[in-house]
Amino acid sequence: MRVGLGYDIHRLVAGRKFLLGGVEIPFDKGPLGHSDGDCLYHALTDALLGAAALGDIGRHFSDTDPRWKDADSSIFLKETVKMLKVKKLSIENIDANVLLETPKLGPHFPKMIQNLSKILGLEKDRINLKAKRGEGMDAVGRGEAVAAQVVVLLSEKM
Ligand code: MG
Repeated sequence: MRVGLGYDIHRLVAGRKFLLGGVEIPFDKGPLGHSDGDCLYHALTDALLGAAALGDIGRHFSDTDPRWKDADSSIFLKETVKMLKVKKLSIENIDANVLLETPKLGPHFPKMIQNLSKILGLEKDRINLKAKRGEGMDAVGRGEAVAAQVVVLLSEKM
């Protein structure tokens, strides 16, 4: 078994689409970023790469590479899944915290889990998402940022 940890945070600004877990969240701001800024996909990509000892998202999908300008972040996950297959690693489960002050995320979680299930080829009951607020304190709490924390467990196929 191999455990992996991922974290990502993006500043929320006006004039950006708010993509999170591949779902477009109706809101007046969205994450600033080189790609589409999907911080759940980014944190998960890092967790998977970490568990596989393959470095991090910046090493494989640099935010200075014009190929990834405004890129759909599901590409990073799909490419990472291919790398796991090469290393004969399979995903056991995923647990995540998604940190956002507003709007409420719960109603969007089923669609995000469906997206993740499809991209990763993983049963929905092995994917868990939890919403957390910043209680008015930090960048998340002030509504300035969206962040995600992800842990994954991989197993090595015999
Ligand atoms: Mg990111």
